[in-house]
Amino acid sequence: MTNPTFDFDLFVIGGGSGGVRAARMAAQRGARVALAEVLGTDGLGGTCVNVGCIPKKLYSYAAHYGEGFEESHGFGWEGEKPTLNWSTLKANRAKEITRLNGVYGNLLRGSGVTVFDAFARITGPHGIALATLNADGSAGHQAFTAKHILIATGGTPHVPHFVGREHAITSNDIFDLEPFPQRLLVVGGGYIASEFASIFNGLGSKVTQLYRGEQILRGFDDEIRHFVAGEMRKAGVDLRLNADVVDIRKTADGLRVECEGGGVVMADAVLYATGRVPNVKDLGLEAVGVAQGAQGEVVVDAHYRTNVPSIFAVGDVTNRVQLTPVALGEAMVVVDQLFGPAAGKPPRDMSYEFIPTAVFTHPSIGTVGLSEQAAREKFGAITIFRSEFKALKHTLSGSTERTLMKLVVDTASDRVVGLHMVGAEAGEIVQGFAVAMKAGATKAVFDSTIGIHPTAAEEFVTMRDAVKS
Ligand code: FAD
Ligand code: NDP
Repeated sequence: MTNPTFDFDLFVIGGGSGGVRAARMAAQRGARVALAEVLGTDGLGGTCVNVGCIPKKLYSYAAHYGEGFEESHGFGWEGEKPTLNWSTLKANRAKEITRLNGVYGNLLRGSGVTVFDAFARITGPHGIALATLNADGSAGHQAFTAKHILIATGGTPHVPHFVGREHAITSNDIFDLEPFPQRLLVVGGGYIASEFASIFNGLGSKVTQLYRGEQILRGFDDEIRHFVAGEMRKAGVDLRLNADVVDIRKTADGLRVECEGGGVVMADAVLYATGRVPNVKDLGLEAVGVAQGAQGEVVVDAHYRTNVPSIFAVGDVTNRVQLTPVALGEAMVVVDQLFGPAAGKPPRDMSYEFIPTAVFTHPSIGTVGLSEQAAREKFGAITIFRSEFKALKHTLSGSTERTLMKLVVDTASDRVVGLHMVGAEAGEIVQGFAVAMKAGATKAVFDSTIGIHPTAAEEFVTMRDAVKS
């Protein structure tokens, strides 16, 4: 399998979710593998570990404690509400992320991957140039050849142009913000904007969220979007729809944000979460002739191969489904294809149907399959089951938070084609149902499943009466 004509069998550019998985698995199959990460050992794990999923979820847990202290009074707990020590949270998060960076480094080196602390550029179908630092601090340069090159360089936040753009921060900056923003303005209505609006609201900021459209979380089930927006407002987020920023000016009292239509919001920090663009700058794609799309994304075929046959790409740089488990799945398919599947296993395949996802708003969203709207377009006749209730916990907690669960069924086949939830631990609940749905579970199978009592999840198997068909 290994080819002595080249320095390596596989050269992976980027040490994030997709890159680390591909490098490690290929090396375990006996391939000679190198991986370059521009941020060095500190960057191993990529966006998800350093400035994405993991620190975000840790801060979400932190925010839930704030709610939990208030809710505990109804259960008999007494005393003053503790205050947040933002520095402690930041320091503990940083320590955990450093530990994870180390785990990733050990996994790679333990599998025999050669790790370079360098920016990588593609110089030809089999050529890679690394910009490194010499021991004396001067700029160095190394060149290698590889039979296959995998681009796994991820994405980076995109902030549109407007007057005062330099005052805006992105999700890359929010984790270490100093001081804690007592007033936070969040711009955008996608995953990142909605999650951070909820998280900082829970941590104690006065949060305003501006979204340019009719409702946040475009693409999700409409009812879920409206429901979660209502719950976020109840929790304290000042969500303003059909709203955008005209300019941001620095004043003695903080950042003065002029909004379209004349409103003004004063803030200590303005988080722009207006989408991400592929990381392709200076990667050498044009020179080598790798085809790119309108956002710069690397264009790949169904096997993650670019138009240059020795060059592949996975993850956010392809600008398709920007989720860590998707990048991991794609990486595994590439490895199986190039170096053979794991012993005794068939080659992996990647399906983009029924990808479950969670939005870690407060309360959170969990969803898998089609929205009511998309299912109606696809199947014509659909049946909707719906349950909205106050979770048992909140009968004593004093919280007015409500939970929504919804099933979308293809009437002709009885198959459950969409499952959606807004409520506590939605991601944890929906993950298991995603397996059933991939397996083609019908509503009759859901009905014949015994619930676990008392849980919120049992509602998914006890919805008897259709609300719409
Ligand atoms: P990345 O993880 O971004 O890795 C790319 C790596 O390549 C980076 O380390 C970068 O430094 C390096 N690199 C770039 N160019 C070069 C170069 N030329 N040479 C060397 N190295 C280079 N997904 C979820 O599934 N669940 C979540 O809860 C979730 N939360 C998120 C929260 C936030 C705030 C953000 C921003 C993203 C979140 N995501 C989440 C998305 C997830 O982080 C990405 O989908 C995932 O990290 C993509 O993996 P990747 O391998 O494609 O790229
Ligand atoms: P999204 O694409 O999810 O959302 C971008 C938001 O910004 C949309 O509401 C969009 O509006 C708005 N927007 C875009 N351009 C402008 C503009 N010029 N002015 C005003 N608003 C604008 O991107 P995110 O940055 O939130 O997240 C990137 C990706 O990362 C997500 O799509 C997701 O795949 C992944 N992610 C996953 C998470 C998870 O799994 N829990 C958490 C965080 C991120 P419009 O809808 O009108 O286009």
